[in-house]
Amino acid sequence: SEVYLNDSWHPAGEAMVSVFDRGFMFGDGLYEVTPFYEGKPFKLQEHLARLRYGLREIKLSFETNDLENLIFKALDRAGLSNIDCAVYLQVTRGKAPRTHHFPQQTSPTFLMYAFPVQLKGFRQMEASIMLAPDFRWQRCDIKSISLMANTMLNSEAIEKGHFENVLFRDEKITEGSHSSIFFVKDQKAYTHPEGPHILSGITRKVVIGLCKELGIPVVGEAVSLQEVPEADEIFLTGTTTQILPVTSVLHDDEEIYKSSEAGKITVRLQDAFHQMTRGL
Ligand code: PLP
Repeated sequence: SEVYLNDSWHPAGEAMVSVFDRGFMFGDGLYEVTPFYEGKPFKLQEHLARLRYGLREIKLSFETNDLENLIFKALDRAGLSNIDCAVYLQVTRGKAPRTHHFPQQTSPTFLMYAFPVQLKGFRQMEASIMLAPDFRWQRCDIKSISLMANTMLNSEAIEKGHFENVLFRDEKITEGSHSSIFFVKDQKAYTHPEGPHILSGITRKVVIGLCKELGIPVVGEAVSLQEVPEADEIFLTGTTTQILPVTSVLHDDEEIYKSSEAGKITVRLQDAFHQMTRGL
């Protein structure tokens, strides 16, 4: 398979980045994963807008105007134009002598590749999750490639047999290590408000829109740790996760929430999401 690096295509095994790249040395960069349903882009502009937001926040100047065309070329070259797949994009600040401050002039390193992804069948799935303190930084709105905390936290969940580690800060549930979370209580959907403590998930925004269409009130308020056991329904959202019902929640190795099946509102949202992405 091929990757696009800086301004050309390379066999994946032959693409090279400097050891002095700030992405390698500092994790000084951003990424996006943007989905394609049978080759059709889903919320591509939203993913590019989030990338531009991040670039502004980290003061990295990088031209994004040509990205859309390049992304389609990546699908085409990978032979993925008709199947479920995703494109990974990464921009780092590029190569420079190692200093903590941002160097004056660097040329950013841009990496992109397309890969097949399993997007079908999400309506048949459910997950158990665990809860843990959110020890990430205070700028979770930036989709940074520095994912040490996220990978540590998710690995703990996987080791314990769970799909995701969902995090709390000051007793308030924020989001998962690589997903957003919704709680349903008394027919209303609760999601942590946007801000520095969560990523502005694209799927989260889609689900908020679907709730509005379906007449499900959305409350932009964080759910507290103490409220989790009383939730009527819980589900995760994310680009590859889509809408995933949570049927078990563990905190300190104790099951504090259990449900025998996906909730009614979760299933309505899944059906609406399926229709939106598949046009069925
Ligand atoms: N929160 C975090 C920390 C994530 O890493 C992700 C996705 O990777 C999400 C939420 C879900 O965001 P999206 O729906 O844009 O994929």
